[in-house]
Amino acid sequence: MPPGHDAIQQKYRIVYNLLSKVYGEPQRRRYHPPIDQLVNTILSQQTTGANRQRAFEALKERFPNWESVMNADVAAVREAIRPAGLANQKAPRIQNALRFVMREHGKLSLDFLADRPVQEGKAWLMQITGVGPKTASIILLFTFGLPAFPVDTHVHRVSRRLGLIGTKVTADKAHELLENIVEPDNYYAFHINLIRHGREICHARAPQCQVCMLQEWCDYFQGK
Ligand code: SF4
Repeated sequence: MPPGHDAIQQKYRIVYNLLSKVYGEPQRRRYHPPIDQLVNTILSQQTTGANRQRAFEALKERFPNWESVMNADVAAVREAIRPAGLANQKAPRIQNALRFVMREHGKLSLDFLADRPVQEGKAWLMQITGVGPKTASIILLFTFGLPAFPVDTHVHRVSRRLGLIGTKVTADKAHELLENIVEPDNYYAFHINLIRHGREICHARAPQCQVCMLQEWCDYFQGK
């Protein structure tokens, strides 16, 4: 019989504490204004942090504000964001996202999301083409400190191996499940530490289980 909610929550608490002991407890800092975060998260799809940053800086350098990005020739946006890769997809995606915000909200601002219930804010953001639960959750959590738990590829893989979620649960579905397991005050630190653990130890192809502090609590390691 699969473990119940209480057992999984107990496991999460142990995992949370072990990760925090080794990696510390990351504190949320305000990263970018919300529109910047929206553009940044689109740029970050399938690229490294360094390339995303180069593309974002090039965009800010080339255009005086987001309105001019929105109204620019798509080729000019594409040229500026080339360092992030997939510029052919990301340039129109960024412009469409900005146009959506302008059309639906009347100005290029997402500040109103700070006062909306999380699920409502997520649903609003997910109407934008190319914005799924991960991007929406990143904007709400990172920018506003709202209780949304983003699930990227590392969070998804490590959570499945540990048995916090089922092995067949998709990343999209994992958002809702992990939001019910993780304590909202810990969303940010747990998200950051799971990513770090996935990058440094629990690699996709060859997890370094022999040096992992979570062995005892890991379904994959325990052969469950
Ligand atoms: S024991 Fe292995 S599979 Fe489990 S979390 Fe650690 S590295 Fe990943």
